[in-house]
Amino acid sequence: MTHIIHRNPRTPLATAVRGLGSYLIDHEGRRYYDGSGGAAVSCLGHGHPEVADAVIAQIRTLEYAHTSFFTSEPAEQLADTLVRRSPPGLAHVYFLSSGSEAVETALKLARQYHVERGEPGRWRSIARLQSYHGNTLGALAAGGHQGRRRLYQPLLADVTHVSACFPLHYRRPEESDDGYGDRLAHELDTAILEAGPETVSAFIAETVVGATAGAVCAVPGYFRKLREVCDRHGVVFILDEVMSGLGRTGSYHAFEQEGVVPDLLCLAKGLGGGYQPIAAVMAHDRIVDAIAGGSGAFQHGHTYIGHPVACAGALAVQNIIERDGLVQRSATLGRYLQDCLRERLGGHPHVNDIRGRGLFQAVELVQDREGNRVFDPGLQLHARIKRTALARGLLCYPGGGTVDGVRGDHVLLAPPYTTTQEE
Ligand code: PLP
Repeated sequence: MTHIIHRNPRTPLATAVRGLGSYLIDHEGRRYYDGSGGAAVSCLGHGHPEVADAVIAQIRTLEYAHTSFFTSEPAEQLADTLVRRSPPGLAHVYFLSSGSEAVETALKLARQYHVERGEPGRWRSIARLQSYHGNTLGALAAGGHQGRRRLYQPLLADVTHVSACFPLHYRRPEESDDGYGDRLAHELDTAILEAGPETVSAFIAETVVGATAGAVCAVPGYFRKLREVCDRHGVVFILDEVMSGLGRTGSYHAFEQEGVVPDLLCLAKGLGGGYQPIAAVMAHDRIVDAIAGGSGAFQHGHTYIGHPVACAGALAVQNIIERDGLVQRSATLGRYLQDCLRERLGGHPHVNDIRGRGLFQAVELVQDREGNRVFDPGLQLHARIKRTALARGLLCYPGGGTVDGVRGDHVLLAPPYTTTQEE
């Protein structure tokens, strides 16, 4: 008998008792290879002694100081580290405890930016279909995952959704990458014009789509075109790299591979690597200058923002990523993983696609490749894959099953950057 409200109260869970490198170990001593880092969280694997030491040392020195009175050394150092590794201009950091909070914070920062600049009519957010931005009400409203939204629809704010960039399924046969990108940029432009540019605050997108469709990368040039549309209409451009950021895709920021710099950037999972619940929004000078030069105060805050212990843990994680060259390792091992997947599964009749960047890879599954026919969603294929893999000692992150038009199921793989070729 458990008193916890588990995610699925009818499914009994094993108890995880230990984490060691790329493995989790349960109460019966079974070992599981953590092939997805939970949900792309555990970038350093489990039980890293240096992170543990940093967290313990911080608890012994200063466990908490409210951010309305104090800043703290680990928070300042972590912000410095993130800014040093980011393009010029992206020079400000706001710490939070979860990816959903980061998304909501970015949307609020965007809104306040417009108000400070004398455009109080801008409030509307535009996001993309087949996206996931979190489960709190504001983040859920931005998300385009109908399955997760449906139950809470009456509680959700009005957000406009445009098409995602998913070339495998939505690029027309006659369309080039460029033509497809142009069409999607035109769609965003039209959405802004129809809403009235004077009402639009922000556009938000995952740089590489994670949970809803599985490591989907945009066509080259797509993000530059969308950035241009946003700039033309004065719309704040937000990238959500909660899942894809901080080395996961083989570059420190996923946007480095797109040739754009966002106005606001959401980070979370790889920031604390699972050692601490921590997230961040990085903001461009232009956003912070408008607020600092205007009212002078961001109308926001939570009790645990900039928590010293969370920041100390994340600082250790980021320092290890840098010292051990783990971003490059994610790129190299990611290519190896993709090659292995292609070699072993590429010809499989139910494998429709193998895709991704760095250690962020996915396998898409269909009933029938030729007819592009998906498995019946009633089969709950992703749940069955998860169960079967678990029984064989592999943790992976399956999803899909016709999520608002995403055709097919997928299995996302996101092992730690510290994993080995043998593993
Ligand atoms: N944004 C993206 C892209 C995510 O993948 C997630 C979580 O999976 C979130 C936001 C929400 O993060 P959290 O679960 O920490 O609130």
